[in-house]
Amino acid sequence: MKMFGTNGIRGVANEYLNCELSVNVGRAIAYVLGPGPIAIAKDTRVSSDMIVSSVSAGLMSMGVSVIDLGMVPTPALQYYVKTHDDVTAGVMITASHNPPEFNGIKCVSSDGTECSPEEEGAIEDAYEMGMKTVEWPKIASMTHVSDAGERYIDSVLAKVDAEAIRKAGLKVCLDCANGASVYTSPMLMKKLGVETIVLNGEPDGMFPGHYSEPVESNLEGLKEAVKKYGADLGIAHDGDADRCVFVSNTGMYMPGDVGLALLSISCLQSGKGSSEVVSTVALSSMVEDAVINAGGFMVRTAVGSPLVARRMIKDGSLVGGEDNGGIIFADHQFCRDGAMAAARMLEFIVRNGPVQKQVDALPKYTTIKTATHCDDDKKEMLIDKVAALHQSEKIDRTDGLKIIFDNGWVLLRPSGTEPKFRIYSESKDPEVAKSRSEQFMSEVALILGQ
Ligand code: MG
Repeated sequence: MKMFGTNGIRGVANEYLNCELSVNVGRAIAYVLGPGPIAIAKDTRVSSDMIVSSVSAGLMSMGVSVIDLGMVPTPALQYYVKTHDDVTAGVMITASHNPPEFNGIKCVSSDGTECSPEEEGAIEDAYEMGMKTVEWPKIASMTHVSDAGERYIDSVLAKVDAEAIRKAGLKVCLDCANGASVYTSPMLMKKLGVETIVLNGEPDGMFPGHYSEPVESNLEGLKEAVKKYGADLGIAHDGDADRCVFVSNTGMYMPGDVGLALLSISCLQSGKGSSEVVSTVALSSMVEDAVINAGGFMVRTAVGSPLVARRMIKDGSLVGGEDNGGIIFADHQFCRDGAMAAARMLEFIVRNGPVQKQVDALPKYTTIKTATHCDDDKKEMLIDKVAALHQSEKIDRTDGLKIIFDNGWVLLRPSGTEPKFRIYSESKDPEVAKSRSEQFMSEVALILGQ
């Protein structure tokens, strides 16, 4: 049975994701990722205490002791697991950017990276099989750690030129989305001597400010605040603060690919180590051009941050990420690292001046993203038929079907979680991007008989 999606097990609390399922998932995690101890943490969701308790009960019933880190960002849990050799795994209770009724269970390997599909498959198998619990004298216990957030922030601090940032006298607006960053990111700004206006800074699982996905429509308040207070930067996290997107000093929303481009340039500027940047086939060529202009090169994987992280480990590259604000820095840890991205962007501004000027200097592309309904059993057939229609073009099958033209590309990707097919079309010429998007939409419709 497939339970894990691209970001762990997700569902509406007390519906799919109820106590019973959580206890049994906890037992399966204990079996696969034990012997423990296993660290657990949560975001601010209404149901997070309940799911933490249930998963923990499942772990302890298998004789695996639990270290409860409380409410901290996902990368703080990952940092804790990575830096504690005796800890064999981590579990994060979060639904990241999903609406408040959702929650999720995400597993972390002993090195602090997100679990591989193989490990997740083994947990699903163990869940199916059902687990025999230990006899009562072997039931494990739980301890609590209260400084995991601060230790994470201190580690971020040690990786940037904090003195230079302090001297620059910067001002930022920080939108915590009432999520897991409400204590840690304001703490980071304080330790960096940055004047900070915090928005949505109370922990609140109803997300009263806005939904926790850091897309532009949710960040109108942040854009306004940056302009109102004359800030140098706007910073926004998603619900579990593994992601970070920015608003420029002129109040312009910077999509995730823009942040990734600037932070890649920043890592290349540092001149430390490899000049390889890792991202996925779905990322805009804008970032690749920017990376090449800065003296680097780009390697692309299938979609999914664990794949990016594992490729970075294999190749020894400095930086990688996706276009949703999830950025990974090899010198810190191999996971999406929201606070690290924020600190590095401040360092970038100190080094390069106002951020909007740097954004204006980036190459310009038009990317059109559409999606169409497609039943799961037709997805493979669809890819094969479209590939057959374009066999004379340059084709990349890393993930779905990417067709590369002289003046742009088209990517067709089946959704892993929904009966959907995504079609991306990108070109420097907006007309080409548009007409190609329309061409592929109609090719797909024809094949699916829509
Ligand atoms: Mg997230």
